[in-house]
Amino acid sequence: MCALSADSCAEMSICATTASNAAPADPVHDLPAALLQQGWRKFWSKREKRPYFFNKVTNESLWEMPSSTAADCDPLRDPLGIQSPVAPTNGGGYQQQWPLRLAEKRSLSCDDSNSAVPAKKLILSGPWDLEIASNVVIWERPGIVTPHCHPDIELLRTSYLAKLRNQYFELCHSREAIEAPKDSFSRWLMERKVVDKGSDSLLPSNCFPEVSRSMYNEIMNDIPVRLTRPKFCAEARKQLAKYAEAAKKMIESRNASPESRKIVKWSVEEAFQFIRGTPNATFDDYEERLIHLRSQCQPQLIEAAKKSVEGICAKIYHLSCEYAKKVREQEIELLKASNIQEIHGPLRIQNPKKVYCYPIQLAHSCPKLPLVHYLLDKEMVLLRYKDEILRIRSQYLQKLEHLYRWSCLDDRKLENFMSRAWCLLKRYNAFLGSNSPEALSTQASLPITVFECLHKHFDVTFECFASPLNCYFKQYCSAFGDTDSYFGSRGSVLNFFPISGSFEAFPPYCEDLFEATIDHFERVLSNSEEPLSFILFLQEYKDSSPRALIKLESSRFKRKQLTIEAFEYDLRSGTQHTCDVNQVLSKSSTSLMVIFLQNDAGFLRWGPTPQRIDALLESFKPVKEIIKEREITLLSPPPTPQSLPLTANTSQSAENA
Ligand code: SAH
Repeated sequence: MCALSADSCAEMSICATTASNAAPADPVHDLPAALLQQGWRKFWSKREKRPYFFNKVTNESLWEMPSSTAADCDPLRDPLGIQSPVAPTNGGGYQQQWPLRLAEKRSLSCDDSNSAVPAKKLILSGPWDLEIASNVVIWERPGIVTPHCHPDIELLRTSYLAKLRNQYFELCHSREAIEAPKDSFSRWLMERKVVDKGSDSLLPSNCFPEVSRSMYNEIMNDIPVRLTRPKFCAEARKQLAKYAEAAKKMIESRNASPESRKIVKWSVEEAFQFIRGTPNATFDDYEERLIHLRSQCQPQLIEAAKKSVEGICAKIYHLSCEYAKKVREQEIELLKASNIQEIHGPLRIQNPKKVYCYPIQLAHSCPKLPLVHYLLDKEMVLLRYKDEILRIRSQYLQKLEHLYRWSCLDDRKLENFMSRAWCLLKRYNAFLGSNSPEALSTQASLPITVFECLHKHFDVTFECFASPLNCYFKQYCSAFGDTDSYFGSRGSVLNFFPISGSFEAFPPYCEDLFEATIDHFERVLSNSEEPLSFILFLQEYKDSSPRALIKLESSRFKRKQLTIEAFEYDLRSGTQHTCDVNQVLSKSSTSLMVIFLQNDAGFLRWGPTPQRIDALLESFKPVKEIIKEREITLLSPPPTPQSLPLTANTSQSAENA
């Protein structure tokens, strides 16, 4: 009776989420919301012919209903178990609570039934609002069979990923004589994840087709050379010469048909004659020439390079499969060594109920996790495992801790918190590879003022694209269910099927992911009569193919479309969790499209009325966000050693300088 199965785990989490939102109808859940939230359920004893109460979190069972005083102590709202006799001075700001000593926390525990003072609400100020509850309803879903993250496995996985990235760079260099297109590898990872059915959460290993269209197109686009937009006449002239030279060299060195060679050679010769014979040519003349030359040569060059570029894509994919297999072997070893029986999926829930959405549940038990040490360095915390040191701003580590307390049910004492936070940071660092601005743009987020407005005027409580580091709400979808679920992730947006709710979606730039998302939203909207609303934000990239956009603009669920012009709004940096506070905000150089997709009920409830649209446009004004950012910074004093998270945690060690 006491064993905690994957399903029961899922049920707990649903109830934790539903408790504050809706009263369940069945007798098992016929208990006060606070008791449900603590894990209590009511069952019928056939032998004794009377009800009994069982707590799935602590495995306690009682014949009598647990005391309501204990139930009043809500572990989510009062995560440290503090019921301080002192009323909060400034609305219960989290920072004031931090320096409490462990002994004080214990003496002021939930069991202090004499305390008549209501529980403090610990609110962590920052560019988020973790207090907002979800209005998103889903069908109950089973746990996933992906094993728990483990620092050793994550080290192995990410080292293979780094190796794969380097192999990709080398192949582009040796076979096509080009630099790998910027961030095409990160985009390949996102694109592969749209179709991947493999077991690894990072390395693609079961994809069809094997050759990624996005990787293929991106390499082809840079063949024979990468062209950049010239600004001046001399640059335009240089580009033309560079392209002509590279095209000639390439066609000579490849297995091309005599016809193709002839076309390229003639066109190149023509271009050189133009350059030599027209010294007074203008910027536009050179541009026009280049367009003409490309239109002549590119089909021949693509034909000549097709096999080889497909070869690169296939090779990278096969290497990835090989590495994923090696990681899998290590995972199985670890499960065996930890005496954990492997579960084979997919799992099912008999008679699923409609519930408020809850984080992904991992079906396996968690192996013992190793120690991760931390060091406070001014406003940063360094997390160290073996030789690998990862950095995060202390405020964001505190955010992770809050998310963890809300969402993670298998570790009430936070013994695994640091190890899991380390794995999370390692995963995102590996995913982004270089810290190039383009790679980081996949993690850039909308201003807080916009989220505030979306919540206030459109009841938005959920981000479809996020990470534990950049989320505003505590309920969101993210790329990596296994590392992020402890921190509230509901998994990939493509595997998330809401029945009702109001959503914000700001997808990263990846054509295939975007297209799959539109199809997914359309399917979800068609399948529900209950109110559903998706407010999409889309940056306009000059080289993005219009296919997905056409689909979106002609959607039957589209209610409104507007544009925020380039340089008229700010974005929050993809490194907001590590960078200096002064570098968090920057003006965006691309315009932003806003599109409302809503079914009829969603439109009735959250339709884009003129007043709401005015409020949304107003919320984008950069000055508002700057003021907001300042407020947050003022509310977050620099951390003291006591203010480090996890003072109650015995398994971590602080190496304080
Ligand atoms: N949450 C912020 C930032 C969005 S940045 C906002 O809405 O403004 C886009 C995020 O989508 C990144 O963190 C990226 O890792 C994440 N992402 C990538 N693939 C995803 C997927 N399949 N499902 C959900 N999120 C995904």
